[in-house]
Amino acid sequence: MSQGIVTASYIGATILFILALGGLSNQEKSRRGNLFGIIGMTVALIVTIAGVTSNVEILIGGLLIGGSIGLVLAKRVQMTEMPELVAILHSLVGLAAVLVGFANFMDPARLEHYAGVELTIHDIETYLGILIGAITFSGSVIAFGKLSGKIGGNPLLLPARHWFNLGLLIASIWLCSMFIDQSAVGSGLNPLLIMTGIALLFGIHMVMAIGGADMPVVISMLNSYSGWAAAATGFMLNNDLLIVTGALVGSSGAILSYIMCRAMNRKFLAVIAGGFGTTTGGSSTGSNAEQGEVITLEAPEVASLLNEAKEVMIIPGYGMAVAQAQHIVCELTKALRSKKVNVRFGIHPVAGRMPGHMNVLLAEAKVPYDIVYEMDEINDDFPNIDVSMVIGANDIVNPSALTDPNSPIAGMPVLECWKGKTTVVLKRSMATGYAGVQNPLFFEENTRMLFGDAKSSLDTVYKSL
Ligand code: NDP
Repeated sequence: MSQGIVTASYIGATILFILALGGLSNQEKSRRGNLFGIIGMTVALIVTIAGVTSNVEILIGGLLIGGSIGLVLAKRVQMTEMPELVAILHSLVGLAAVLVGFANFMDPARLEHYAGVELTIHDIETYLGILIGAITFSGSVIAFGKLSGKIGGNPLLLPARHWFNLGLLIASIWLCSMFIDQSAVGSGLNPLLIMTGIALLFGIHMVMAIGGADMPVVISMLNSYSGWAAAATGFMLNNDLLIVTGALVGSSGAILSYIMCRAMNRKFLAVIAGGFGTTTGGSSTGSNAEQGEVITLEAPEVASLLNEAKEVMIIPGYGMAVAQAQHIVCELTKALRSKKVNVRFGIHPVAGRMPGHMNVLLAEAKVPYDIVYEMDEINDDFPNIDVSMVIGANDIVNPSALTDPNSPIAGMPVLECWKGKTTVVLKRSMATGYAGVQNPLFFEENTRMLFGDAKSSLDTVYKSL
């Protein structure tokens, strides 16, 4: 394939990736955005594979094995397991960057292609690719463990952890200069291996130190790291498309991390430094203690409340995903709208277990986009709401985030549904949510609890309606 066609295809793929990102910023255009992304990636793969001249069988074999594993995993994964899948996929990007880095370094032709300053630059690219890749790999594996519940959500707070991190950073810089010196004379594997160990340790420590409530930021941050790891690999391999794609993922992930931090009222550096979202001893004002009696309702009574309402706000959370209740929520919405009830959805930026989780579920169930609102758009409307239906949500409607400075979620803006006339909370028990804190909302005078699996509870409400 001529260089001209390769360059033109890479530019085309880059434009498609940018269009994909633009499309994904809006629910109505997100399908189109996905399509652009798929076409861009197909073009990129075809052109790259066509340019490979040796060992094509190994490449095709790898593609078939990897592609089949990916297909089976994607087909099997439950919607509730998506965040874990995303985390483990990020880890693969990191691992690939590490392996490509080592392969690149061990390539005997390296010293023939590069010399002097060029060799130094190439070595720095290799070093950074492996460093970021290793942090992404081990951090994502720990994030996977935390999201899937295999590792506890409590932050691991080592004494002098900031000094420990600083020590690792200084060691990495020192090893980099050692690696550059040794690489020029044909060695350098040892500093590279030691740095990889340090980076793996840093990734583990960084994510272990982050508390459950701050995990959304970690997910988007690892997303960003995986992009930078890919970009560094692109520099190593002199592949412009990989550089651009990596930079797009890296920068959009960084912007998402910033948005998530703002949504949670956290400082980015403070989250990375760890120790927020702790559930150990964080409730000195007793937010985990029982706070009185709750008032329970049965499904037919909830149906009567809805029948009398004019303004209804639905607040979905992680429990809606677990119960797969989005379809019955959509049916209920249709039924209420046909009775001229104004139904709207209030979406918290960190509801569920991944950014946009609730939007994806509601779009899947075909809830009209124009009645789905972001938290900032509707939070002031609660005093006019007759019934708020909290469906499997907990942390995102916890008033102690605003009132208890010792709460692990202190300072996080929440949907202030208690300001409405009546709030109905659908969940199975009095269990806490992801952050592990009890929710004073359940004990408010105007709150009613409807216990049970959200899907079966809503089925009964719908039938009674
Ligand atoms: P929460 O985890 O706070 O609460 C979910 C609630 O759903 C639980 O209290 C549970 O109570 C209930 N539930 C579970 N299964 C069912 C079911 N089948 N039927 C009915 N209810 C059910 O979720 P929120 O969405 O309110 O908040 C998200 C939390 O996750 C925040 O702390 C956020 O920081 C964190 N997080 C968010 C990420 C993101 O990117 N969005 C990523 C990682 C973490 P019960 O067991 O009693 O039924």
